[in-house]
Amino acid sequence: MNFFDSANLWGKKLRLVGHSYVGGLGRKELAHLLLLILLGLFYVVGNSFGFSERKLEETTVIMESYAERLQTNLEMNLSDSTIVYKEREQLLKAIEERIAKYLYQIPDYSYITALQTYLKSRPELLHQLPSCVPLEKGDYSLSSGFGLRVHPISKKPTAHFGIDLAAPSGKPVYASAAGTVADVIRSENGYGTHIIIRHRFGFKTLYGHLDKVLVVKGQTIEQHESIATVGSSGSSTGYHLHYEIWKNEKKINPRPSFNLKKTIYAEVMNTKPSNHGKEEQGK
Ligand SMILES: [Zn+2]
Repeated sequence: MNFFDSANLWGKKLRLVGHSYVGGLGRKELAHLLLLILLGLFYVVGNSFGFSERKLEETTVIMESYAERLQTNLEMNLSDSTIVYKEREQLLKAIEERIAKYLYQIPDYSYITALQTYLKSRPELLHQLPSCVPLEKGDYSLSSGFGLRVHPISKKPTAHFGIDLAAPSGKPVYASAAGTVADVIRSENGYGTHIIIRHRFGFKTLYGHLDKVLVVKGQTIEQHESIATVGSSGSSTGYHLHYEIWKNEKKINPRPSFNLKKTIYAEVMNTKPSNHGKEEQGK
């Protein structure tokens, strides 16, 4: 698609909207409308430049061939032979590099399904991308999903670009992936006390309405490391964790990430009765 053509088209549409509705709309509504249109435009432009389905397909095809060779390698009975072992290591490394490339490119979790088979060869990568719930099992219940909802305080329909997990006060909040603490912010409104963590592959996570903060800006953390406790700071009506995932600076639905690590590790355990390497147990 030609960006300049589409920008021009949008310009025309904007003028059209301005003429026909400006009398009926207040300045505030008009500003909101313009903002929405601009956001839509950024979305289209951002997606057409940063990411291509074709590139992903190519990566998957290459990974497929590596995976096939790996399978043949694993089936060889000369498991102690140095050559076989070396080839296996090389193939695993090549698969890992491809997975990493793919993970940098994808815009959200819907593309991870195509990757699932290969992630089984390198499940350790799941430590580096948000792939689990940031609270302990049994501590939480989902109270609000990602998308449009009626705001609990203002009662207006609002976009909710995160997930709310209701949990008792003081329960530990865990980092959903390894990374670096990008920011610790204390605020009276909005997210309240919140933490932003930067991860590999263009992911970021945000943990909002916290009580105690256990990390500092710049700190390196592991997946499942406790970073804070559940609170109700900021614009909040009860104890809960507001959790967001950002991918390449865009907020995405965290829901598909919740069971990702668990699912893949379960498959690894089932398909590999004999352990070939230093595999870890998933949490
Ligand atoms: Zn929320």
